Amino acid sequence: MTRRSKTSPEDRAPDDLGGVHRPVVIVGGGQAGLSMSYCLTQRGVDHLILERDRIGHEWRDRRWDSFCLVTPNWQCQLPGYPYAGDDPDGFMARDGIVRYIEAYARSFDPPVIEGVAATRLRRDRKGRYLVGTSRGELIADQVVLATGPYQVPLIPRLSERLPDELTQIHSSQYRSPDHLPPGEVLVIGTGQSGCQIAEDLHLAARGVHLAVGSAPRVARFYRGRDVVAWLDTLGYYRKAVDEFADVDAVRFRVNHYVTGRDGGRDIDLRAFARDGMRLYGRLMGAAGTELQFAPDLKENLDHADAVSESIKDSIDSYIDAHRIDVPAEPRYTAVWTPQQESTQLHLGDTEITSVIWSTGFGRDDRWIEVPVFDGRGYPTHDRGVTSSPGLYFLGLPWQHTWGSGRLSGVADDATYLTERIITDPAQPDHLFRWIAGTSNSTYPRDAEWVAPRTVA
Ligand SMILES: Cc1cc2nc3c(=O)[nH]c(=O)nc-3n(C[C@H](O)[C@H](O)[C@H](O)COP(=O)(O)OP(=O)(O)OC[C@H]3O[C@@H](n4cnc5c(N)ncnc54)[C@H](O)[C@@H]3O)c2cc1C
Repeated sequence: MTRRSKTSPEDRAPDDLGGVHRPVVIVGGGQAGLSMSYCLTQRGVDHLILERDRIGHEWRDRRWDSFCLVTPNWQCQLPGYPYAGDDPDGFMARDGIVRYIEAYARSFDPPVIEGVAATRLRRDRKGRYLVGTSRGELIADQVVLATGPYQVPLIPRLSERLPDELTQIHSSQYRSPDHLPPGEVLVIGTGQSGCQIAEDLHLAARGVHLAVGSAPRVARFYRGRDVVAWLDTLGYYRKAVDEFADVDAVRFRVNHYVTGRDGGRDIDLRAFARDGMRLYGRLMGAAGTELQFAPDLKENLDHADAVSESIKDSIDSYIDAHRIDVPAEPRYTAVWTPQQESTQLHLGDTEITSVIWSTGFGRDDRWIEVPVFDGRGYPTHDRGVTSSPGLYFLGLPWQHTWGSGRLSGVADDATYLTERIITDPAQPDHLFRWIAGTSNSTYPRDAEWVAPRTVA
């Protein structure tokens, strides 16, 4: 991607951005930052995007080789650039997603400067924003923070208690079975990443041990359609987060596991276990070569299945209510049940040589010196509008709807923010109607900082 802005800062000295003024600066050149740029371009608003790496960096560099979308291609609905390929019901692989993002950028030539990170954000006495970078401090009337939901890989400090000989990585560092040392692999966590990585290793005939958490699952297809298509029909994706009774829980809820691999299928951990994968409950402790797991494997598998079946119940009710003529489908029957919970694992009894922590991500907003965070360090906002006039977030999980942090819903949020940017950058008087996150614990800004958790 070419680096370009209307004042061609790429041609100037290392502090060339110092004093450059833009009505709007967008931080982050992923799908959210690009969507914002597209909407502002449509409305003739002068702006600049700062991207510390390259456009599409997250999809290109932080996904494994066999990665493909979990959401069907038709849900790729970036503003002005809906999916137009010949496989709307398919699931783009990693490189295809990168091409889609790059082609999107080429379609409107956004004013992006790549390779420049925003390292400090503060307000001056006039209320303007000062955006510090390695190439000087920009001035912006308004700022959109589109820095991504999954920023900091979270690995529990429990990992320090495992033997030094083990290779330990986070799910965002996993690439393929061949990149791990020979031997068995312990995958910890069963969100979308953990389950798909465990499957990738299982298909490569690597011995896999999997610590199963409480993440729910969802069937891929039911009664002739992708479940995502049914949920779309049911209106689930249009439901705003503040329509839920448990707003805070919805925001931090772990995603349902399922895969788009090979045209899409269920991820059935019981079937993996039947075929040789070793399943355990949640990892509770480690002391050298001894690992302890909670006796909750059966409970976690049952819970995942119950959630999946309850989604089918909703689909059945809709089909009945609307007298839709689709074939019936038998319900899921468990293909394997743990006979005895294995709560102890002595690594010396296994061939485990690597551990993949699929334990989620957090945020690092410490560079933002504007008081818009809650006690956990999570941004407070209403549909991305913060209490600091002219400062916005875009791309947060459940910023407004399920699709906010995804390819399907960021367009709506970018469109909404564009109107706010153009017409009403003032602080909304209803801002504290709901606060994202409950300040049930408080972390100091610098000392012993802990990344506020998002989900994966
Ligand atoms: C494993 C995984 C699977 C997913 N699968 C799907 C799926 O199937 N379907 C779906 O719709 N969504 C999926 N998502 C969710 C979502 O679509 C992606 O996380 C997507 O990358 C989010 O886009 P974004 O633009 O909000 O953030 P990002 O893609 O993270 O982009 C943020 C950009 O900001 C840049 N940046 C950050 N800080 C700074 C700074 N200070 N200065 C300058 N630049 C900065 C980063 O380099 C990055 O390029 C998945 C996410 C993960 C982690």
